[in-house]
Amino acid sequence: MGEGRDVGCINGWDRHRIIQITYVLEGERQSLPVRFISTGFFGVGKNERLASLLYLMKTFKIAVLPGDGIGPEVMTEARRVLGAVESRFSMSFELNEARVGGVAIDHDGEALPAKTLEICGDAEAILFGSVGGPKWETLPPNEQPERAALLPLRKHFGLFANLRPAVCFPNLTHASPVKESIIAGGFNVLCVRELTGGLYFGQPKGISEVDGEPVAIDTMVYKKSEIVRIAHVAFKAAMTRDRRLTSIDKANVLENGVLWRKTVTEVGKEYPEVALNHLYVDNAAMQLIRNPRGFDVVLAENLFGDILSDEMAMITGSLGMLPSASLGLKETALGRFGLFEPSGGTAPDIAGKGIANPIAQILSVGMMLRYSLGEPLAAEAIEVAVRRVIDSGLRTGDIFSEGTERVGTEAMGRAIAAAI
Ligand code: NAD
Repeated sequence: MGEGRDVGCINGWDRHRIIQITYVLEGERQSLPVRFISTGFFGVGKNERLASLLYLMKTFKIAVLPGDGIGPEVMTEARRVLGAVESRFSMSFELNEARVGGVAIDHDGEALPAKTLEICGDAEAILFGSVGGPKWETLPPNEQPERAALLPLRKHFGLFANLRPAVCFPNLTHASPVKESIIAGGFNVLCVRELTGGLYFGQPKGISEVDGEPVAIDTMVYKKSEIVRIAHVAFKAAMTRDRRLTSIDKANVLENGVLWRKTVTEVGKEYPEVALNHLYVDNAAMQLIRNPRGFDVVLAENLFGDILSDEMAMITGSLGMLPSASLGLKETALGRFGLFEPSGGTAPDIAGKGIANPIAQILSVGMMLRYSLGEPLAAEAIEVAVRRVIDSGLRTGDIFSEGTERVGTEAMGRAIAAAI
């Protein structure tokens, strides 16, 4: 080991100091953050030496892209929660912030500057806020923030799996448009949507003139390998939950549905612990409202997943509480590279007022820890902290009800960070 440099102190406790150790390995200078535990005499008898007990810390590189509207406000709280995770768990985060969306159009002339893409490529995960707003709505559609930033990011990193948990907390059921008798006790469904295939991308596609009138064509295409890889994501997610998977298709009408059902059934044989059932998409749309508690993980292709995940978000009643993950092709021993963001948008109606609900952004940090960084305990700590704070009666305006305490974005973030 070489020299040590003191780079900070967590909780104000000396024995929780983080020290940057610099050393030379095979001629190359390396550096490692370690946690200082204590100094004392270690060893036995003659071999006893005064030494410091140090604890190796994992450092994760995260690209932080707050974006527009409420994005920067809720991202500040997500960063606060990351700080609390650092204090409690043996890990540290190198957060590299970059511009994306409207703010990038204003500063850099494009929604996804090369520098931002470079920072994302250099990271283990992307923590994304949201992009867009009235200021940029008059731009040509292809230059508007969502289309010019999110779609290229999805394409560049092959983000093929979209995970959207629809969680209705037991004491927030009043916010749901569904009858209390149906959702008493809340529900927790995870929607796994294929994101890069199907009707949205299949060729041929377009509008042409046939027999003197315009004709529109969209083509639904799925290769077996695309179904296999998304099915594995869904089965693996089910393994960490209640081990029930409902696969959605339209196998009674569409050839895609036939291949989908057959392939998912085949993949399911590798996961005998997971109970698999199949539903036609029209029936699924009804059953999700009739009995959301009957579902654990729902797997769907791109178009069906788009519609059903919005339906599920709606029946939770609180958009500001819902995170989402888009997982990519790059896989490590810890998990898949991914982009983690709230399900909602930039909420221009409340931006700048300090009243947005930061929970969706904070829970997207939890998803990042679980799916990209292989840290399920830290993810769970965030989820438990959110539940505790909700149970304690704190509410932002979007989930407020009589008899609870209304707080702003920062107070909610601070309470969750303190509960970790
Ligand atoms: P939105 O999700 O921004 O807002 C819908 C409603 O939900 C609003 O009343 C808003 O105040 C509320 N809301 C959303 N998030 C909230 C939160 N965290 N706390 C409290 N209330 C919250 O959807 P919209 O109005 O259709 O879109 C606004 C802008 O966001 C548009 O420019 C759209 O293009 C963009 N958008 C971006 C993304 C993204 O970046 N992924 C997604 C959706 C919409």
